[in-house]
Amino acid sequence: MSFTLPELPYAYDALEPHIDARTMEIHHGKHHAGYVAKLNAAIEGHTDLGQMCPGTLCSNLNTVPEDIRGAVRNNGGGHYNHSVFWKLMGPGGGDGPTGDLAKAINTAFGDLDSMKTQFEAAAATRFGSGWAWLCATDGGLSICSTANQDNPLMPIDGACNGTPVLCLDVWEHAYYLNYQNRRPDYISAWWNALNWEAVGERYDQAVCSSCCGS
Ligand code: MN
Repeated sequence: MSFTLPELPYAYDALEPHIDARTMEIHHGKHHAGYVAKLNAAIEGHTDLGQMCPGTLCSNLNTVPEDIRGAVRNNGGGHYNHSVFWKLMGPGGGDGPTGDLAKAINTAFGDLDSMKTQFEAAAATRFGSGWAWLCATDGGLSICSTANQDNPLMPIDGACNGTPVLCLDVWEHAYYLNYQNRRPDYISAWWNALNWEAVGERYDQAVCSSCCGS
């Protein structure tokens, strides 16, 4: 068993003008593909690891043999993070959350704009490469950021202790062709590329799986 690059659920140019086709093509076809290839190379000979879901692999990082743990952290994280990221975007976005997700955002942050402000701050102030996250936790929704290809599923300090609902890639490779050094412009345009229905479904699943034991 090995990990495979998921197909994008839309065309490379579907998110224009907010995210350009060339960026999407390189980001998915080169960067994400690279994480998958390096992850498979790292776990060669470890069939148990190859059978895990990418998220499960991230959650169980401490059980990964030490000599490949760094490679699995970087490339397994890269595979999981991008796989989630692609699915949360889509053409014709720009509306807002509905249903239980909308209620949870209002409860945690007051309103959608306040959530966006806090999320944008997390994304803009992440020094160097990393990700911003909105997670479902036991106490509701929370926002954090992580470095490199780390994510909140990993047993690391400083991240939200929950299930990712929404994430934003703030590596320069995600925006440099179109936005150069203007990360805040990329962040504010990205809201228009969001598929809130997909984000809502992810929230429903996150809340459901955390309730399964009760
Ligand atoms: Mn990326």
